[in-house]
Order: sequence, then C-alpha cells, then structure tokens
Amino acid sequence: MQVGRTDAYKRFTFLFLVAGFLVRPRACAEINPLLKEMEAAPLVLAGETILPSPDATPIPDGVIVIESGKITAFGRSGAVVPPSNAATLDCRGDTIVAGFWNCHVHFTERKWMDAAHLPAEQLARDLQQMLTRQGFTAVVDEGSVLPNTLSLRQRIEAGEVPGPRIVTAGIPLFPKDGIPWYVTESLPPDVVKQLYVPASAEEAIRDVDKNLAGGADLVKLFLVTGVRENGRIVLRNMDARIVLAAITEAHRLGKLVVVHPSNINGVELALAGHVDILGHTIQDPENWTPAVVSRLIAAHVSLIPTLTLFGPTGNFSRVVGEVKSYTDAGGQVLFGTDVGFLTDYQSLSREFSYLGESGLTLPQLLETLTTAPAGRFGHEGQTSRIAVGADADLVILHGTPSEGPRILTQVAYTDLTYQN
Ligand SMILES: [Zn+2]
Repeated sequence: MQVGRTDAYKRFTFLFLVAGFLVRPRACAEINPLLKEMEAAPLVLAGETILPSPDATPIPDGVIVIESGKITAFGRSGAVVPPSNAATLDCRGDTIVAGFWNCHVHFTERKWMDAAHLPAEQLARDLQQMLTRQGFTAVVDEGSVLPNTLSLRQRIEAGEVPGPRIVTAGIPLFPKDGIPWYVTESLPPDVVKQLYVPASAEEAIRDVDKNLAGGADLVKLFLVTGVRENGRIVLRNMDARIVLAAITEAHRLGKLVVVHPSNINGVELALAGHVDILGHTIQDPENWTPAVVSRLIAAHVSLIPTLTLFGPTGNFSRVVGEVKSYTDAGGQVLFGTDVGFLTDYQSLSREFSYLGESGLTLPQLLETLTTAPAGRFGHEGQTSRIAVGADADLVILHGTPSEGPRILTQVAYTDLTYQN
C-alpha cells in the first residue's frame, strides 16, 4: 500500500536515526507515521511475538489489527482474519507489549519552561528524547511548576504534540526550612519561591487544596530532606502533624499521596500518615527490615525504586535488595527513574538491569511498567494490556521474551496513537 510521506514522517525518521535508536530501518519502525496518516484505514502488525499482559502466555507469530487507534483483533496468525483493506507491516523478530509507565519523572528542566508557547516540534523532540523513545507512553510527574506542566499536557491531549499521558503531582510540599540543597541549587529562584513549605497543619491543608484545585492529580510530600548548613548537609523532617493533615486532606479529595522518604524516619512518617506510595527506596537499607516491609504491605503502600539514583556505589547492593524483599513479600512495585531530575537519559536504561539484578523476572518487570501503575493511578481498561477495544498504546521491542529483562531496553518504536 502506498502511503504518502510527510515532513512529519521525515522528521521522526531523522530523529530516530540521529539518536542511534534505530539500529536498522525496519518496517515496524514506520508504524506511528503510518497510523497518523491512515487513521481511517486498518493496520496489521504481523509476525511478532505478542505479550498481551505480564501474566499472559506469549503468542508467537502474532497479528494485531489496529483501526482508528484501537486494537480490534489480535492473536496467532491464521486465527485472525485481517480486514481486506488493511496495510500490513512485517514485525518478525520483534515483540509487542503495552506502553510503559514511568511513575517518577519531573518536567523541571529549563527546556520545559513556557510550554504553552514553545514550538510543537521542539516539545515533541524533547519528549521523545526524555520519555517516548524508552517506551514510556504514560508518566507520573512527581513535582514541577503546575501551570506549565498542565500547558504541556493540554498540548499533548489536543494532538498538537506527540507525547505521553501525564499525571502530575504539581507543586510538592517540603518540611519547614527544608527545601533540599539540590532543589535550591538547581531550580531558578522564582520557581523555588513557589514551592510549598507549610509551617502548620492548617497551612498544609491550604497548600494541598490549592495544588489540587489548580489541576494536580496527586500530592507529593518530601518527608525527610537534606539542607546545607555551615558547609554540612543536615536532615530536616516534616512535622508528623503536617504529614497527617496533608495526607488526610488529599484522601478526603480522593487523591493519592506519594512521598520522598530518604530514610527509615521518612518511612515511619509515611506509615503514620497513611501514605500511598514511596517515591524512592531508602538509603539506610539496614533499617528496611522484614517487619517494616510487612507494615508497608499491610498499609497497601506501593514502592517506586529509582535505583539508578542511588547506584552503583556504597551500600547499593543492599538498596537493590529492598526491591526484591518487597516483591517477594507481595508488595507492589511501580517502575520509575526520577528522569528530569536525572538528566543523563541514556544512563537510565540501567534501571531495567538493576531491577533484573534485584531478582525481578520479565513478567514482574512488565507488571511494574504496565498493569500495576495503570491500576494504581486509575487508568486501567483502555491501556496497559493488549486487548480488543483497548487503545493501540503499544511498544515494539527488538528481540524475543527469551532474552529476559534486557529486551525492555530494546525499544524499536513507541506508539502514541491513543491521542487521535
Ligand atoms: Zn524526583
């Protein structure tokens, strides 16, 4: 089938090639531009291995039929009858899974500022580099300038800029006199001034209300932070009454709370306040005991490891061990990298190997990337698995599932057609 190739198509291809992202041109790499131009026409992805969900049996020699951005059929070749007017793309040697979630990102780099007015191509390229070329079709922003992130999201949702779904915590709350040194020293002073530093339970409630009324989807609290004092880093804890008030208010409004714990004191504050999600593993793994793990699991707390943030030096192997102990005991792990705070994007593919080293299998890793976050953030149904009627929110990986967790870094293409 002849398909016109627009400037947009050329730009995409160019970006992929420049990034070294496409090792060799393949038919499957053309899916996104094809779909953009053929919204009304069916598309068939053929010959791949399909992993419909983390616990499903892989389907070899699979076929996926996509019409108007939705999956209308999938299965083994021969069991699916493609529409006669469909274009077929050869995906032999590839594996297709649902789009990934990255549950810990930040839109705080200078390049995102004034997202309402930046050229669409520039935003598209930056989103591609930070997120979509690693397979992320949905992200949880754990702290940024809320109106700016909402502008970015609005342009994505309007179809003007190809990018991931964005769930945002908006502006975080910090301990009194406790904005961490790495925030004060990296963000512009006018941004730092906007951060919430409640001095009382009443102020915390007011800050949560303001953030959520402004359009945030969840609340982020920094429970224990490090500030510079006389040349040393000293720790500041958020007051327990403030933690409880902020979380209670968020829950009253039906919103989740994610926290930055730093250490066991942060975990204890989180437990006392009935938090939902730990945004990091802790840096004193000796205190991550089976008893703490049991209490966190009993409280239905999810864990976002962000292992790359802490590795590979010091007591890193024990920090890695926190993840395995949590999944072994039945705790929920959500994938996240802290990308945006960490700006060497390429290095963050190490997160997959660290999680693999921690003992997570490919199905477990896929769960942290798809079904677990979609369920936790209330987006299951249309996304996170390959199903008839679901959005064609897909990632195409070079290779087969027999390669194990490594395959998750071999992203050939990320599809964003759900926006249409
Ligand atoms: Zn972060």
